[in-house]
Amino acid sequence: MPVITIERKVLAKNDEVATENRTLFARHGLFVFNVVSSPGAGKTSLLERTLELLKGALRVGVVEGDVQTDFDAQRVARYGVPVVQIVTNGGCHLEAKLVQDAVASLPLEGLDVLIIENVGNLVCPANYDLGEALKVVVVSTAEGDDKPLKYPGMFRNASVLVINKVDLLPYLPCDVEALQRNALQINPALRVFRTSCTSGDGIAAWCDWLRSRAADRP
Ligand code: MG
Ligand code: ZN
Repeated sequence: MPVITIERKVLAKNDEVATENRTLFARHGLFVFNVVSSPGAGKTSLLERTLELLKGALRVGVVEGDVQTDFDAQRVARYGVPVVQIVTNGGCHLEAKLVQDAVASLPLEGLDVLIIENVGNLVCPANYDLGEALKVVVVSTAEGDDKPLKYPGMFRNASVLVINKVDLLPYLPCDVEALQRNALQINPALRVFRTSCTSGDGIAAWCDWLRSRAADRP
């Protein structure tokens, strides 16, 4: 089928640029991760909490992906970190080329960590390598415990799972143990954190992990 051929060509081209990005990030000694989730899971809130806690410890830059607005970049900029917004104009995922162009306006040599917030979508961002070291998938308790089974590709390709909005568990039918079990069934290597960006639960543990990963970078 021609459609499949085109898809393969697009992905192969994307992988080439992702490799260039990876080389660039390595040259600057950057630890780069790609944050993915469905819309509203709390990616930007997690970033805000993270930036708050890492202030003074790590130099962080942010690439924000959004379909239509720069609202998230404005939120992140309040933390005094360099941030660049990619507006995809309806595009439902970030591609390596968009990231390559965006990071050209960031002071990479002065950074330790680069966080890429992808467009809210659990489907195609799984297939687009951006040159990151790893993907962090965020799922909120409000989305239900079957999310990993419905979007296995994303959970398979991620290295870290953040289960967010745990403060809402008393009010929701979500079984958080089942949610974690479902995710680990698809990818037993997932590193799991449970967080609430409202109460601050679990943010310190997540930031500790991030700090140790950043320290390990070549
Ligand atoms: Mg966001
Ligand atoms: Zn897409």
